Amino acid sequence: MWYLIVLGVLLLLLSAGVYFNLSHTLHRELDEDLRARAAQMISIRNIMGIVERGRFEENIGEIVAFYYRRGNRLIHLSPRDQTLPVSAELADKVIEGERLMMTLATSDGTTLRIFGVPYKPRPMDRIPPPPDFRGPPPRHGPPSRHLRDIDAAALFIARPTAHIERALSGLLITLMFAVPLTLIISGAGGVFLARRVLNPIKKITDTAHTIGESDLSRRIDVHTNDELGRLSGTLNEMIERLEKAFERQRQFTGDASHELRTPLAVIEAESTLALQRDRSSEEYKQSLSNVAREAEHMAAIIDQLLSLARADAGMEAYDFEELNLDEVIESVVSKTRGRCEEKKIALTTQLQSGAKIKGGHAMLKLLFSNLLDNAIRYTQSGGSITVSLGKEAGKANIEVKDTGIGIPAGDLPHIFERFYRVDKVRSRGEGGSGLGLSICRQIAEIHGGSIDVVSQAGRGSAFRVTLPIIS
Ligand code: ADP
Repeated sequence: MWYLIVLGVLLLLLSAGVYFNLSHTLHRELDEDLRARAAQMISIRNIMGIVERGRFEENIGEIVAFYYRRGNRLIHLSPRDQTLPVSAELADKVIEGERLMMTLATSDGTTLRIFGVPYKPRPMDRIPPPPDFRGPPPRHGPPSRHLRDIDAAALFIARPTAHIERALSGLLITLMFAVPLTLIISGAGGVFLARRVLNPIKKITDTAHTIGESDLSRRIDVHTNDELGRLSGTLNEMIERLEKAFERQRQFTGDASHELRTPLAVIEAESTLALQRDRSSEEYKQSLSNVAREAEHMAAIIDQLLSLARADAGMEAYDFEELNLDEVIESVVSKTRGRCEEKKIALTTQLQSGAKIKGGHAMLKLLFSNLLDNAIRYTQSGGSITVSLGKEAGKANIEVKDTGIGIPAGDLPHIFERFYRVDKVRSRGEGGSGLGLSICRQIAEIHGGSIDVVSQAGRGSAFRVTLPIIS
């Protein structure tokens, strides 16, 4: 509507401009023609005599007339005796020396543009040529007797303005059709374009309305190759990411509850069984230690879930400090030596790289102890574990390598997923929760690094962590 109103106002202004400009030009040209014609007539010698004799050729549509006074009478002189709607008063004014340009209507309704100029017959116009005049005879003979003593007259030239009115009314009719037609066409075009532009937005809005948390599988069906198409594409990508995130969340919640249910079920079964009848103190001890083991397992899972949640909260949640990586690893390794000896696993280290890193002390310790725990857990007695740290181009490479059971190729892509375990029974039996490696990966990523694994079932695994260092 605004667009149409603005366009309408502009068209009206333009039309008015064209109309008035044309009208002004045509009227000015007519006036100039009349003035030129008057000047031309006045310059003709004995013009009144010529008019009196009816020898003067008027242009088509033109009326020429002289007025002069003889005593009290106003006399009108015109080649074809045509009268003009000029009052005696006006005629007198012109005779007295005024030049008048006016528009008057005749009795039959035609409008005339009339120009009146004073005319003073020159002496030679009034005197007939002497009888011995040798020059060419005057064209139309000498002036008549009663013109000879006139010394002031008024010359009026009139032309009808009908052609100007015709041109202007033609233009007016054209504009009266053209302006509304232009408005209708551009209005229809505007509606069409607005629909085309707004339809995809309506679709996007409708789809967005129907997408709830539970139905993130829907996508916006707009496939145009413009801004809206790109917007829909971006929104669709966002919905897809949301859908995946929700899916992961659902999966995680399910897995977490499942993981916590298992030890709870054991505790429940164990205590129900123990309470069924009186038992020996040995049996109670056994039951309680089973319950304690499961509770410990649950506590470990909850600890790990907490550290994952903290890591999910992002980097801001951590205070990073400058750390000597060799020292961090050494402190983790020294805590595991006892267990390695118990399990008869040879533990060797290749440290002393001097790498310095900006990071979270507790987190990095958790990362390396998870890797070492796994290596011990999945390596048989008599095997060996090597922990090494190397430095290259702004990065530290830490490798925890074992000669354990290895990971089947099919499981390799999944082991960093939360709660993923190659052998559920064995891992649980060993106290694993399936969260360790995903925590390791998260910690590596928080520090701007990465983690990957090379492993062969039956031959051992090597986990390699790459971390950016400051020196
Ligand atoms: P878990 O608590 O079960 O050890 P992790 O996330 O630490 O969970 O590891 C995931 C799975 O990857 C484990 O269940 C195990 O099957 C496999 N895995 C991890 N480390 C090793 C390793 N050093 N050797 C063999 N298998 C491993």
